[in-house]
This record gives sequence, C-alpha cells and structure tokens, in this order.
Amino acid sequence: MAAKTTILKGRALIDGTGGPVLGNPVILIEDERIRAVGRAGSVEEPRGAEVLDLSDYTLLPGLSDCHIHLAMFNCLTFHNYRVAQWEVTPELQQMYALFHAQMCFEMGFTTLRDLSLNSSRGLLTEEMCAVRDAINAKLFAGPRLLVAGWAHITGSHLDLILPRAVLRPGFQTADGPYELRKLARTNLRIGCDIIKTCASGGGGTDKEEPDVRNMTQEELDAIVDEAHAFHKTSAVHCFTPDAQRMAVKAGADTIEHMVFTDDDAIRRIIDAGITVTPTLSHRTDHAIEVRREMGTAEFILRKMKTIQPSCYETFQRMAEAGVRIAMGTDMGYDPEMGMGAGELEIWVGLGMSPMDAIVATTRNAAEAMKLEKEIGTIERGKIADILAIDGDPLQDIRVLKERERIKMVMKDGHVYVDRRAGHEKQVMAPEFNTWRIVDK
Ligand SMILES: [Zn+2]
Repeated sequence: MAAKTTILKGRALIDGTGGPVLGNPVILIEDERIRAVGRAGSVEEPRGAEVLDLSDYTLLPGLSDCHIHLAMFNCLTFHNYRVAQWEVTPELQQMYALFHAQMCFEMGFTTLRDLSLNSSRGLLTEEMCAVRDAINAKLFAGPRLLVAGWAHITGSHLDLILPRAVLRPGFQTADGPYELRKLARTNLRIGCDIIKTCASGGGGTDKEEPDVRNMTQEELDAIVDEAHAFHKTSAVHCFTPDAQRMAVKAGADTIEHMVFTDDDAIRRIIDAGITVTPTLSHRTDHAIEVRREMGTAEFILRKMKTIQPSCYETFQRMAEAGVRIAMGTDMGYDPEMGMGAGELEIWVGLGMSPMDAIVATTRNAAEAMKLEKEIGTIERGKIADILAIDGDPLQDIRVLKERERIKMVMKDGHVYVDRRAGHEKQVMAPEFNTWRIVDK
C-alpha cells in the first residue's frame, strides 16, 4: 500500500529543541513519520498529499506528562474520593483511567507516563497495562502510555495512599531486597514499563512525615537493578536530600518531586544526568482547595501548605543549577485532568522562560522516558505527534490550557482532534462536561 502523505502548513513552528521559532513552516509526513520540516518553499510538496491548512496557528510537538495517575479519582469525575474509593471496583476504575487519558489527549498530551496506583483491591498494574494495550491496539483513541508497577515497603508513602485500616489483599508491598525484587518482577511480568518506588515519605497522604526513610539503600538498589535487568526504567519518589542521594547511588532514572534539597544532592543529580519531575500542580492553593472540597483531612491539607514554599524554592534552585527538568503534574485528585499545562504556567510564574517550559514537556520529557529517538521534537525521522495552537505560547503559556485553542492534535501522523472551523472531531465519547459525576 502506498504511504499516506500529509502536509501541515502553519504560522510558526516551535520544534521542541529550544531552537529559534520557524515562520511559515511546512511539515511533510509519510504515514506516522516526519519526512521533512522547513520554511514554505524549501520542503517538497508531493502531489496527492493531504494538506492541512493550519496557517493561523503555532505548531509544536505533542506534550508529555511524565508523572500522572490516571486511575485516581479526579475532581472532574468524582466528588468525594473517599466515597469513590469504596464504591468503585478496579474494573470501573480502569474505565475511568481510559477516560482520564482521553481528557488529557484532547488537550494535546500525546504521551503520558502513568505512575499507577494502589487500590483497596490491590495494585492496578494489570488494569493500567490493559488501558495502554487497548490504545496501542487502536480499540480506543488515546495517548501513548508508559505504565508503572509499584515496588514499595510496608508503611511507605505509597502504601499510605490507602488509609491505614484498609485490609490489603495479597502481595501489595514487600520488605527486604529479595522480596522487593519479587514484587518488581511480578509487575514486570504483567508488562509494566517502569518500576515506581519511594525512598522517603510524602505530602498528600496520612500522618507520615516527608523525612521518614521509606527503604534502605540495599532495598532501593535491588529495585532499580531489577528494573534495569529487564531493560526498563525506575522512577523514585524523593522528598529529601538524603532520599535523593540514595536514588543517585542506586542509579535511578528519574527523581520525582524533590520538595527539599541541598547543594550536594543537586550536584550529584546533575553529575549523574538524572531527570527530575517537580510536580508543582498539586502544591498550589487551588489544588489544596480542591482537596478540601473532596474531603481530604485537615492535617494533610496543613502539611501540603507547609511544604508549598519549599517546593517552589527547590524548583527555582534546580532550574538555576541546570538540573534536567521534565514535566510531570502528579495529577490524580487535583487539579483537573487535561489541565496539565497549568504546570508550565506555574513554572513560568517562578521565572522559567516559556521556551524552557515547553522543552521540558516535549524533548526533556521524551528523554526522561527514553523515547527521545521517537518523539519529543518535530524533526525529520521522528513520529508525527504534532499540535496546532491558536496563539503563541511563548507570549502567553496559558494558551496551552485553553481547550478551544488546541485546534489540532495529531498522534502517529493521524489527526485525532480537529477544532478548526467546520471540523468538529474529538476523542471523548461525551461532550466535555456533560458526563455525570457518579458520587455527587
Ligand atoms: Zn505521584
């Protein structure tokens, strides 16, 4: 069969490399790959190609969120997560995860690294792998997904996503290097792409303090080694500089959150070339307010507010020191599925340039996921994951949050969302905001 050829003509191109903006860009796509990119007139336009007129819009690579929890009870789809936790089966939760993935996809997120979840009926690795596989099999439209399996100790931050008194079924946590290797291997057998773990306590759960050590060095070494043995990656939740040093020593691939740090930890992270996802979206006052409305305990909200200034300060220190930062929101309960670009707005408010923020959610994110050969930039040979935006995100990053301005979403060379005048193509089955919030 002859290749399908598509030509995109835009107003401006931000290619994701951080290089200069190109005016009047033309992108030639053959099947799912970019064959040529250049200024109008410099790119061959084969006859018979389908031409998409995007000449009013800015083109940029599909966005990535490297830290999301699609199976969490998002505030757009649930009213009270504690109710939802007891009323929703893993099977229904899986369908919500697919729906949440589509909500992000519609807003230009063509790749998501899902860091999975713990439920009252076990880890959701199987459910999340099934969502990924169903999208890959083209049963449903959705973003490219990388899915994590969890390997964490009893009483860790990840364990305490569930209330303490919940009966925990089966093999959900493990202790000691070999038991943790087995938990990691069990998840890898299911087919996860990443092993997620936590080396310190966290912010949004229970009474546990951020500086509680969540495993020994020996245990963390075992988990990371197991992920690497299967040619997979590891993501390590670290709130403290001690946890960050442990993650560097273990050879972790990404560090999540940071929150507190020191010069020594930052230097080690840079020397090791580890990417960090700061996840500030759910540290804001808005996010805390959303949690309050959803029934989160007051002592957790107080803890979230207490760590807020450190999160912002650590982000600024990392950006200044030159840590490679990739975009991750930690979205789950808050703020709202699909609103991931709000993370970039926070960063720009903290002094990062809009261009650097865009690179963090395109090229750097692809690097963090080891997908840099395939996605993350608009360059010859890459997979055609491309957005058309009404507006200039370099002037106002908030345009990436506005649904009506995301005019086109292309993944693998295929147009999934088209909001240009006269075209009304979307992915989600219900119109936006017409579904029922089940527990309201
Ligand atoms: Zn998380």
